[in-house]
Amino acid sequence: MAFVRPNIAAMQGYVPGEQPQAGKFIKLNTNENPYPCSPQVALAVQQVLESGLTRYPDPTASSFRHCAAHVLGVDPDWILCGNGSDDILTITTRAFVGQGDALRLPTPSYILYKTLAEIQGAESEEISFLPDWTLPNDFGRATDRLKLAFLPNPNSPSGTVLPPERILEIAEELPCPLLVDEAYVDFAEQNCLHLVEKCEKILVSRTLSKSYGLAGLRFGYVVAQPQIIAELHKVRDSYNCDSLSIAGATAAINDQTWLKENRAKVIATRTRLTEGLRELGFQVVDSQANFVWAPHPEIPVKPLYETLKSQRVLVRYMDYPGWGDALRISVGSDDQIEICLDQLKSAIAKT
Ligand SMILES: *Cc1c(COP(=O)(O)O)cnc(C)c1O
Repeated sequence: MAFVRPNIAAMQGYVPGEQPQAGKFIKLNTNENPYPCSPQVALAVQQVLESGLTRYPDPTASSFRHCAAHVLGVDPDWILCGNGSDDILTITTRAFVGQGDALRLPTPSYILYKTLAEIQGAESEEISFLPDWTLPNDFGRATDRLKLAFLPNPNSPSGTVLPPERILEIAEELPCPLLVDEAYVDFAEQNCLHLVEKCEKILVSRTLSKSYGLAGLRFGYVVAQPQIIAELHKVRDSYNCDSLSIAGATAAINDQTWLKENRAKVIATRTRLTEGLRELGFQVVDSQANFVWAPHPEIPVKPLYETLKSQRVLVRYMDYPGWGDALRISVGSDDQIEICLDQLKSAIAKT
């Protein structure tokens, strides 16, 4: 294609996990919540539908920011909302990273970060995690062109976390903003929200897709100091969140009781999944997210993924150069996890 910018022509494009539109799968491949969202969400969405969709939505999702501010203990002007947190990542990259600049990311981690750098015509500086899933000091090192760093915490695909003290240390060293992607933080023991006040360079992004069971609604947000938020507003779409998602997300974040109960269920099943996989010989690192990373030291895992898929259990097969491959399995319901473990057990017995 001759008309397109060369960096776009050269890139692959991000490929999300499979979303089968037909047939019934036990879906453990994209870290969705296995349980339905708070019932308040449907009521709120219904109310908007009844009053009609003729008007544009509130451009800054004030109702959500107001409620989230209360839950998080920050001011509403420290929050910017997005069409999922992927939109937040796009907005942030657009604001800080230009052609020829560099964007830093750890590896193995969320593959979209690299795609966002490619869209800008920027270089991605990949820093490998150490074998124990901590980061080398290189991650904070200044380089001339470095304009933004992404750090998922908990990390995907490992589910591991870096402590907030370490993240502050990295941010203070970096010559640029650090976006801490807390997509999975509601399943973790600690978060970095309190660092935003301490350090202008730290941005914390969150999503309602995982812990609130709302991947289909598309709503995420970022918390940062107001002078940063003001710049991000300039580069987002004017109406990047629609009236239905704003209403649904507001209802969801107001139902913290639902979140607390859901979190407890997911964490209990995560323990069962981790233990079950270890009994089958997988080398599972402790996860603080709603998925586990399961390499197997003896058995090739790709055929296991394929066998499971043929039996309508979908997990994610991932292969990171230099790190080897593994299955990333989302924490489903207890029943789903039991079926998955049973099928793995019989597939392994046949190898
Ligand atoms: C799922 C995920 C997101 C984005 O989720 P949205 O559905 O776009 O809100 C962001 N970062 C990581 C690491 C994720 O796994």
